[in-house]
Amino acid sequence: MYEITRKISIDAGHRIADHTSECRNLHGHRYEIHATCQAADLQQAGSEKGMVIDFSVVKEELDRQIAQLCDHGLIVDVDDEMMTGMLGVASDEIKTVRERRVARAVANSAGFKVYLVPFPPTCEHLAKHWYELVSDALQTRTNGCVHAKKVRVYETPNNYADFPSAKLIAGD
Ligand SMILES: [Zn+2]
Repeated sequence: MYEITRKISIDAGHRIADHTSECRNLHGHRYEIHATCQAADLQQAGSEKGMVIDFSVVKEELDRQIAQLCDHGLIVDVDDEMMTGMLGVASDEIKTVRERRVARAVANSAGFKVYLVPFPPTCEHLAKHWYELVSDALQTRTNGCVHAKKVRVYETPNNYADFPSAKLIAGD
């Protein structure tokens, strides 16, 4: 098994509404997102010969699935009524995200870049969410030859979350 890792960085704001300390405040992070990709064999022909996948292809998907939606934006929990109210998020957008449990960029009267998610935007939830998006995109793009092994999200230089956990990966 071969593996590679591509990293991107984005700046985004969030808050953890139920947190009893600092994280309750609206604040920002420079998120670092590391996507590790695996393939049983290296590619045998073409421009990616000898590679798991071109790093630039992984970067393209990380940009499409994460940066375009979240960079310099706010990541907001659909159930955080203080935030959705303050931003003027359209009620049909809230309904859609709640019912379908799918994250999406949403219209709001403040005119901000808002990414509404059906979970508290903790490092752990974001790692799982971004893993699922990137994994699906890479599998589709490579006809199942390459898959994301894990996504690691650094919220600060000292704090990060992995999804899936090393134990889950070992149990594959
Ligand atoms: Zn935070």
